[in-house]
Amino acid sequence: MGNLIDGKIISEKIKEEVKKEIEFLRSKGIVPKLVSISVGENPASSVYINQQKKNCEKIGIDYEVLNLPENLTEDEICENIEKLNRDENITGIILQLPLPKGIDTRKVQSKISYLKDVEGVNPSNMGWIVYGRPYVGPCTALAVKEIIEYLNIDLYGKEVVMVGHSDIVGKPVALLLVDKFATVTICHIGTYDAGKLEEHVRRAEILIVAVGKANLIPGEWIKEKAIVIDVGINRVGDKIVGDVEFEKAKEKASWITPVPGGVGPVTTSILLRNTVLLAKLQKGV
Ligand code: NAD
Repeated sequence: MGNLIDGKIISEKIKEEVKKEIEFLRSKGIVPKLVSISVGENPASSVYINQQKKNCEKIGIDYEVLNLPENLTEDEICENIEKLNRDENITGIILQLPLPKGIDTRKVQSKISYLKDVEGVNPSNMGWIVYGRPYVGPCTALAVKEIIEYLNIDLYGKEVVMVGHSDIVGKPVALLLVDKFATVTICHIGTYDAGKLEEHVRRAEILIVAVGKANLIPGEWIKEKAIVIDVGINRVGDKIVGDVEFEKAKEKASWITPVPGGVGPVTTSILLRNTVLLAKLQKGV
């Protein structure tokens, strides 16, 4: 594997731990159960839902799909969520995105009880990250942290550059790492438009990229021996690639995540871990 970070190995390690926790919960009569809510039809999310269902059932989490009609109002969607919040047999809720046009996604997400918010997108769970006490959090952000921990990197005083400032990746990753005393710079479209992206990327000892633009980061920008975590997923022809020019970056980096097979599988297993953590919290285990 050379300097490749194999996300599947990290993912399997997490799944093993989660599986043991589920066996313990089931021995106490507690069955974690996830409900996936989607509104209207979306072929991309049905692929995702089937994959989630398979992963959950394989590990012992019950998985149910609730597909709501496209024409529901925001209030009606929220009412459906409240109903799931009250159902004691349901321990986790996933809201599949995108929601139909005109629906305020953040508002709907905020209705998911923080105790059932397995994707870590409720403002309360986001807030715990700000406090430096993440319990559950956005799966991809936690996956990035998990990868860094797996590599056993001491972040104290390290130059971390986070490219991308989304609510579910860039911002929480920056907060999670700053709490480990890394010096974190967050770059985004403004940095790019100001022509300053290259200078920030070039000094990154740890570079994390979550933008969604193939080859945004040329390999030659990578600092010698940097750690590169590429979150991006882009379809180019019939291939899936990340945001970093992989072949060239690999020559310079000490560690790099491939796309696919890097952050993605770790993200999937963090969802399972969040599910079990919240089931335990709800049931007081
Ligand atoms: P987003 O689409 O919400 O935001 C994109 C970010 O990139 C913004 O901060 C924007 O300012 C910045 N940006 C746009 N153009 C830029 C440029 N030229 N230079 C610098 N910054 C620029 O982001 P997201 O939802 O975090 O998704 C980012 C990517 O990560 C997408 O490809 C998505 O598919 C992928 N993703 C992967 C996983 C996974 O599990 N591997 C999970 C979530 C998202």
